[in-house]
Amino acid sequence: MNNTNLKGIVIDPGHGGSDPGAVGNGFQEKDLNLKISQYMYDELKKLGIPVTLTRATDETLSPSERVTRVKNAYGNTPDVLVISNHINAAGSEQTGAEGAEVIYALRNNDTLARNILENIGDAGQITRKYYQRRLPSNPSKDYYFMLRDTANTTPVIVEYGFIDNANDINRVNQNYKKYVDAVIDGIIETYGLGSGSNTYTVKSGDSLWKIANQFGTTPAAIRAANNLTSDVLRIGQILTIPNTTSTPETPSTGNTYTVQNGDSLWKIANKFGTTINALKSANNLTNDNLQVGQVLTIPGNDNSNTYTVKNGDSLWKIANQYGITVNELKSVNGLTGDNLQVGQTLKIPSENGGAITSDNTYTVKNGDSLWSIARTYNTTVDTLRRLNNLTSDILRIGQVLKVPSSESGTSRTYTVKNGDSLWKIANEFDTTVSKLRELNGLTSNDLRVGQTLRIP
Ligand SMILES: [Zn+2]
Repeated sequence: MNNTNLKGIVIDPGHGGSDPGAVGNGFQEKDLNLKISQYMYDELKKLGIPVTLTRATDETLSPSERVTRVKNAYGNTPDVLVISNHINAAGSEQTGAEGAEVIYALRNNDTLARNILENIGDAGQITRKYYQRRLPSNPSKDYYFMLRDTANTTPVIVEYGFIDNANDINRVNQNYKKYVDAVIDGIIETYGLGSGSNTYTVKSGDSLWKIANQFGTTPAAIRAANNLTSDVLRIGQILTIPNTTSTPETPSTGNTYTVQNGDSLWKIANKFGTTINALKSANNLTNDNLQVGQVLTIPGNDNSNTYTVKNGDSLWKIANQYGITVNELKSVNGLTGDNLQVGQTLKIPSENGGAITSDNTYTVKNGDSLWSIARTYNTTVDTLRRLNNLTSDILRIGQVLKVPSSESGTSRTYTVKNGDSLWKIANEFDTTVSKLRELNGLTSNDLRVGQTLRIP
């Protein structure tokens, strides 16, 4: 799939070390910036988006060193986002100021900044403005070095609130995770992570027929979606790909796998801890070509219970990913030490399945209300009350509610597999991370292998 338009995200926790930034009400800006940035980093990682930090500790960074780290992270191109996290200070001129601001570079348009600020507003923070600021001595340049000196990247400075306003800074400190989630939603909205799968850039050697085949659609459907009057394509031309009807409803969890756009034998073999040759012989393949929608038999019995160690993995990371403990992982694999080798295949203990909720129940989470659940399931508070014989509207965290199965036809589900992320699944089903989160009442981006997700 085409996860386009975004090569990576550099998170910049403003200030640090000998530069505390703004100070007030018992807070130092540098600490809040780092806390906010680390949470943002974790969440983007979970989504599967390439991400890095300019500093991960209380480190003093000169502006030039900071900018160098930004430019070296993923290259100096507009598809690299830089999110510079800060806390504002009003000073004496505007005592009492509160709320969030986003500043964007003179070389960029306002879309990202606007989307971020709007989402922060939706998350409950007061919003002030998104804007550009010019250097008084040279108005053709940005005022802030993080915008001015970061060359071709796409940077924004996010000011979450005012440190010298006690109400505001306490609100930020209590709700920063919500605000960070909002920033991520703003990025997702801007870059269509998930719906970006709907465009395709024509390459040398392409034809309408070939592209249609690749996406499991027809030349006629592509023609119609793009108002094409001829079948001649230009290299670099961006085509809208109509929704494919061949999207797997429930990718199999057993011994078959439906080939998706972007798959290769190598990728699939890796995913299931098997080899290209084993795949080929299990499917009588005589060459390496795959077609989207093709159903492959996956050799081996416990293929879904293995994991192939990747660069950067650790026992802790893998255990976390599967919701098991490092000790379980070690004992199942007979490991005595903590060292892993890239390419090593690990057995993953299967879960009891007890935690998997049925499609028709919902477990109440912190912050839920009958109203919010009703909205998620496209039903009414009254229906929920009746369905559950509720005599009061007060919910307990952990309470299991019956929810109506969606009356309007297709209620699709997807079982989370090894290597999945919300971003990947959204892409696969041509939806967005935010829709998946909302529909499933997810308050974080964590997924467990085996977890059942509702698909819009
Ligand atoms: Zn600052």
